[in-house]
Amino acid sequence: MFKLYIELSTMSDPKKTGKMSRRNLMLMAGAGALVASIPLALLQTEAANAEEVSSMTPEDALKKLMEGNQRYIEQKRTFPDQSRSRVLEVAKGQHPFAIVLGCSDSRVAPEIIFDQGLGDLFDIRVAGNFIDNVVLGNMEYAAVELGTPLLVILGHERCGAVKAALDGKPVPGHISSLVAAIKPAVYATRGQPGDPWDNAVRANVKMTVNKLKALSPILAKAVKAGTLKVVGARYDLESGEVEVIA
Ligand SMILES: [Zn+2]
Repeated sequence: MFKLYIELSTMSDPKKTGKMSRRNLMLMAGAGALVASIPLALLQTEAANAEEVSSMTPEDALKKLMEGNQRYIEQKRTFPDQSRSRVLEVAKGQHPFAIVLGCSDSRVAPEIIFDQGLGDLFDIRVAGNFIDNVVLGNMEYAAVELGTPLLVILGHERCGAVKAALDGKPVPGHISSLVAAIKPAVYATRGQPGDPWDNAVRANVKMTVNKLKALSPILAKAVKAGTLKVVGARYDLESGEVEVIA
């Protein structure tokens, strides 16, 4: 637990590690048992990664994410950041460049559909990709403490959780809380032309993007300061394409 606290509070903070000089790195390398076992070269790589993410604009992050999706669509994935050296690098601290709130659906795994690797994405997955206080806490942690510049709300075609909310039939146990959270998107799209299921999927994403700023002053402040960009997107199950919709 103590080690976890150290990593979360010190090692993972890009504000601290990102601007670390070689001298400081060397001082750190001799400072404690935890750090002493880390080869200097890896500390430098980790610091370089922190620097890369901390200097990345929200637009850079979105471009990097969408380029990965394009590789996935074209079946030209490069499987970045999955080597043994990357494992060791991110063991020293994480600097993800995007937060992804996606559905728990097994067909919409962020690292696969965006062709990214370890330490790249801060994933939050909830069936129906809606926000509550716990999800907001996750987002605020990544945006503020890790300095992640991009937040994506990722809905997807034929989402089962959205369908359950659309059908309105009684559901057992705690599933009802998922359905209740998605219901506003169903009400908002009632009577609209087109496919009611896809209309509700899209509305659920857009309404979540809009609600974020109202519900989280911390995220709203980051957006206003230009250090965070929030986008809504929809994943197509057949083509694999992620379309930005909000
Ligand atoms: Zn889903």
